[in-house]
Amino acid sequence: MTEATSLPPLRPGSYAFFFDLDGTLAEIKPQPEQVVIPQTVRHRLGQLARLCDGAVALISGRSMAELDRLAAPLHLPLAGVHGAERRDISGKVLRVNLAPTLVEQLSRYLVEELSVFPGARLEIKGMAFALHYRQAPQHASAIIQLANRLVAQHDGLSLQPGKSVVEIKPAGISKGSAIAAFMHEAPFAGRRPVFLGDDLTDEAGFDIVNELNGVSIKIGAGESRAQQRLQDVQAVYHWLEQTTYQLEQELNRLPLRRAGNESFNRGI
Ligand SMILES: [Mg+2]
Repeated sequence: MTEATSLPPLRPGSYAFFFDLDGTLAEIKPQPEQVVIPQTVRHRLGQLARLCDGAVALISGRSMAELDRLAAPLHLPLAGVHGAERRDISGKVLRVNLAPTLVEQLSRYLVEELSVFPGARLEIKGMAFALHYRQAPQHASAIIQLANRLVAQHDGLSLQPGKSVVEIKPAGISKGSAIAAFMHEAPFAGRRPVFLGDDLTDEAGFDIVNELNGVSIKIGAGESRAQQRLQDVQAVYHWLEQTTYQLEQELNRLPLRRAGNESFNRGI
């Protein structure tokens, strides 16, 4: 793996960008609701989206409602809850749902089971459940075992480990499948995907990006199947600025392409 201080030269019109949010575009905080994407970074993302005809999407474990709140005023294509929900560039939303009775049953069970671990927090995302133990690290293995037991009992569920969290999500969905779906659609199709992420859930995204001859970038330490690495969130900000600048310079050198790009106006 190489340090991604600079990517190979970007060709105009040829890249699609996918970003994880927590730990990639925003510093991780003790509580998920304290997380913010700095205004300058949101501005830069909007600029990047304009430079590549809107081929910029957020791919996160958070719900799409939260992603919209954190990225505002941007209104980007999104994959939320590790790909269980997705919004394409036209605004069409696709969701993988669990049966409401199952959601109710699991919610009740998890509320009760987690109540014996002080500091643990259950986040119910509609079609997925996040068992957070950042404030209860001494109970991590018991909580992971609880999630494992539950997934073993239900065919339609799978486990998604993360940083201080273990999630129970519908089987068959991943950040990889979300990126693959975007890559079949305009304006992503035909471009080379670039994906930046920091956590275990991002590995499925790195796999598909590697398969598609794209650029996979792991943020921070830890083993990864990504090709390149950036040290931390601050390095992502620097990379984003550098990449946007580089794309803009390339486009400025192509007057025809530039004229075409200016017609792109989706209010991103
Ligand atoms: Mg992350």
